[in-house]
Amino acid sequence: MACELCGSRGQLFTSIIEGVKLNVCGNCSSHGKVISQISNYNKANVIKPRNRDFVINDIILKQGYGELIRISREKLSLKQDELAAKLSIKESLLKGLENNRIEPSIELAKRLELFLGIKIIEEVKLNSSIGHVNKVSIFTIGDLIKKDK
Ligand SMILES: [Zn+2]
Repeated sequence: MACELCGSRGQLFTSIIEGVKLNVCGNCSSHGKVISQISNYNKANVIKPRNRDFVINDIILKQGYGELIRISREKLSLKQDELAAKLSIKESLLKGLENNRIEPSIELAKRLELFLGIKIIEEVKLNSSIGHVNKVSIFTIGDLIKKDK
């Protein structure tokens, strides 16, 4: 893995830079807010399904979100730098989004959806077998807490 901004290799950090989640080196992470340190040896620790209300919710980016952003921008007769300015993001970031090279954070994706009137993220609910196991344990803990009150 290499830094998504400058390409240097080494210790990477998951950081929010200008509303975008990126895996960057220590130098580049100083431009944003570090969420977590990435272990190159155990990537599984970084991606964990979140459990909420007995269902695993996940937000996925639609395939071809870059084209959607570009086409909607062109419909509004906005140049890349103009749209970037309206969204308070860097032009290079918008270019990356339109090339499907950079994935927007959920927050930025929602702003893009609102501004452009498009749908680029979907919330999926998965009732997997893992979800079922968690459902039992969450229910038990929740039940105990209720009884304590
Ligand atoms: Zn870097």
